[in-house]
Amino acid sequence: MIAYNEALELIKNEIEKLTLYKEEVDLLDSVNRILAEDVIADVDMPPFDNSAMDGYAIKFSKRKSWNIIGEVSAGNFSSFSIKEEDAVLITTGSKIPQSADTVVPVEDVVVEGKNLLLKGKTFLKKGINIRLKGNDISKGRIALNKYTKIDSKTIAVLASCGKEKVKVFPKLKAAILATGDELVPITKIPSGDKIRTSNTYAIYAAVKEMNYSPLMLGFVKDNEEIIQQKIKAAFGMNINTLITTGGVSVGKYDFLKEIFEKEGVKEIFWKVNIKPGKPFYFGVYEKKAKKILVFGLPGNPVSALVNFYVFIKPAINNMFHQKHISSITAVLQCDLKKKDSKRHFLRGILYEENSEWKVTSGFSQSSGNLVEMSRANCLIEIEEERRNPLKGEKVKCILM
Ligand code: AMP
Ligand code: MG
Repeated sequence: MIAYNEALELIKNEIEKLTLYKEEVDLLDSVNRILAEDVIADVDMPPFDNSAMDGYAIKFSKRKSWNIIGEVSAGNFSSFSIKEEDAVLITTGSKIPQSADTVVPVEDVVVEGKNLLLKGKTFLKKGINIRLKGNDISKGRIALNKYTKIDSKTIAVLASCGKEKVKVFPKLKAAILATGDELVPITKIPSGDKIRTSNTYAIYAAVKEMNYSPLMLGFVKDNEEIIQQKIKAAFGMNINTLITTGGVSVGKYDFLKEIFEKEGVKEIFWKVNIKPGKPFYFGVYEKKAKKILVFGLPGNPVSALVNFYVFIKPAINNMFHQKHISSITAVLQCDLKKKDSKRHFLRGILYEENSEWKVTSGFSQSSGNLVEMSRANCLIEIEEERRNPLKGEKVKCILM
């Protein structure tokens, strides 16, 4: 059994070795994808000196009144040679006429016919309210770095750079397979000792939430031959990841580990010193140019999801250099039980109160308790050496 940190490092190392070819997509199809190239500004942004306000363009002096000699609005430039006594009405975003160097906001003046008067105590400074050409970024510089996630903020920069098509990393493709004699499809009312397969849906959604492509292989019985056939078929597919649930512990019918071995998967580790999710398996299947990461998650629905959140998700984010907020330190609102030397991931509810992050956990921490899991919004991480954290202590909460 290995420690959590070591296990995570091993996964990160293997994920980084995956070869990912860039693909080119239309800008509108690039939302949530990750840039696979540095994007260079092909024009100055803004492309010309322009007004930051609706107001009057003037040539700065000590004057407090001017003659209005014309106007420019955004996209409708006309050239004016402005003298000290002149002012030109200007709207936000309009190109600044030659020889003007300052914009007086509309709120600071009184207009009387063609006369413009500065209001009482208004203080003017040379150069105010002008956004200079190239001030945002100048032509030839990097506007967005490789590994930037494309969202509403960043797509605007791409559009401004005229990127009709962008190079992005491909979506990782994950096949999902559940195992268990007890499983029935969700369309059936489970009878006797059967249960509906919820894991397949949970992992499918977790994969989708990462904007990674899930491929649903459904579920199979705890039958060695059938499982092996399914796994063999999965390795023939165009995937980078195989995620299985169930059958990876030490029960009589837990065949997955053995089957992975028979199919040529190199085991990187099996069992991690954590709770829940201890029987987690990680291996790598390699054949010619093909490389598939194999994650064997336990069948308990909570364990399976916790494994996904604390191993697969951070490792993938690391591979794509994604540094969004994934955890928050909060003050415990209740005592927690933790007597052993495992790293625990307890379900909690994180909330903000009086500008402070707080976390409570009145939950059953049973790894079979799905409904409780669904009510939680974080995993409270309690490190190996820590015991029974008390109300008032600070804990790390992984967002989920
Ligand atoms: P296993 O890891 O195969 O020993 O399964 C552990 C527990 O998880 C058992 O109680 C199973 O009934 C449950 N389980 C296994 N697979 C699934 C699944 N696909 N959906 C929901 N629960 C499952
Ligand atoms: Mg099972």
